[in-house]
Amino acid sequence: NEAPWFADLAGDIRVSFEFFPPKTEKMEEQLWSAIGTLTPLAPQFVSVTYGAGGSTRERTHNTVARIARETPLAAAAHLTCVAASKDEIAAVADAYWEAGVRHIVALRGDPPQAGERFQPHPQGYQGAADLVQGLAKRHPFEISVAAYPEIHPEAASAQSDIDNLKRKLDAGATRAITQFFFEPDCFFRFRDTAAAAGIDAEIIPGIMPVSNFAAVQRMSAMCNTSVPNWMGRLFDGLDDHPAARQLVSATLAAELCRKLYAGGVRDLHFYTLNRAELSYAICHMLGLRPKAQAEVAA
Ligand code: FAD
Repeated sequence: NEAPWFADLAGDIRVSFEFFPPKTEKMEEQLWSAIGTLTPLAPQFVSVTYGAGGSTRERTHNTVARIARETPLAAAAHLTCVAASKDEIAAVADAYWEAGVRHIVALRGDPPQAGERFQPHPQGYQGAADLVQGLAKRHPFEISVAAYPEIHPEAASAQSDIDNLKRKLDAGATRAITQFFFEPDCFFRFRDTAAAAGIDAEIIPGIMPVSNFAAVQRMSAMCNTSVPNWMGRLFDGLDDHPAARQLVSATLAAELCRKLYAGGVRDLHFYTLNRAELSYAICHMLGLRPKAQAEVAA
C-alpha cells in the first residue's frame, strides 16, 4: 500500500461541502451550525441541493442567497429541469444572478415519484446537457454537472453515459462532481475512461461519510452505487452504538480519501447531510487545518 500515512499528508487538498435546504427551524439551526464549523476549512465552494421535482425551489434559493450574503463562502445552487419550463428556469437563474450567486450545479433531476421515468416538461429542457446550454446562454455562470463512476441507472451503456458527460462539459460546464462510491478503484477506472473519451475537465469525487448504514444502502440501491460486503460487516452490530459508528464511519471515509489522494486526487466534495463533524474530522485527518477569517474570504 503506497498511500501516505495520515501523518504525512500535507493538507494540500481543496474541499467543497454539499448541504440540503432545511425544512424546519431546528434543521435550519443544524445547517447553520454545520456551515459555521466548516467555514474555517475554506472550502472552494459550498452547494445546496434542489428537492426532487423542484420541490425546494424557494428554500434552496433562500439558503444559497443567505450563504452568499452572510458568509465569505462561494455559494453554488443545485438546479434541475424536472417539471419546469425554460422560462421558469430562466426566472430561477435570474434570481440567483441578482443575488450574487455565480455557480450552478446543473442537473436533470428525478421525477418526484421514485421509480418513474423522467419526462421533459413540454416547454422544458431535455436533460442536463440542454440545461447547461440554456444556463450558459443566460448568464456567465460557473457550472458543475454530475458524473457517475458506476454508470447512471438509466444509461444505455457506460459509453453513452460518458458521451453524455462530455456533452455537458462541451455545453459549458467546467467541472463534474461524482455520485458517491466506496472503492477507490471505481473512481480511478472512471477517471481513466473519461480521459480516454477526451474529457479534461476536473472530476471531483463525491464522498459520502456513512452515518446511517441502512439509509446509505437504500440510497445506493437507487443510484447504482455498489456497497461492498465488507462494509456491511464493518457496520454490523453498531446499531446501538452511535458514537462507535461515527468513528468507524470517519475512518472508512478518511481511508477512501487517503487512497484517492495517493492516486493524485486533490479535490474532494463532501455530502455532509448538514452535519459537520464527520466531514470536519475527515478533512482534519487529511491534514486540512482551519484558516483565519481573512484567508477564508480570499
Ligand atoms: P443527465 O446528465 O441528463 O443524464 C440522465 C440520463 O440520461 C443518464 O443515464 C444519461 O446517460 C442519459 N442521457 C442523457 N442524454 C442522453 C442522450 N442524448 N442519449 C442517451 N442517453 C442520454 N437530484 C436532484 O433532484 N437535486 C439535486 O440537488 C441533485 N444533486 C446532485 C448532485 C450530484 C453531485 C449528483 C451526482 C447527483 C445529484 N442529483 C440531484 C441526482 C440527479 O438529478 C439524478 O442522478 C438524475 O437521475 C440525473 O441527473 P443528471 O444531471 O446526471 O442527468
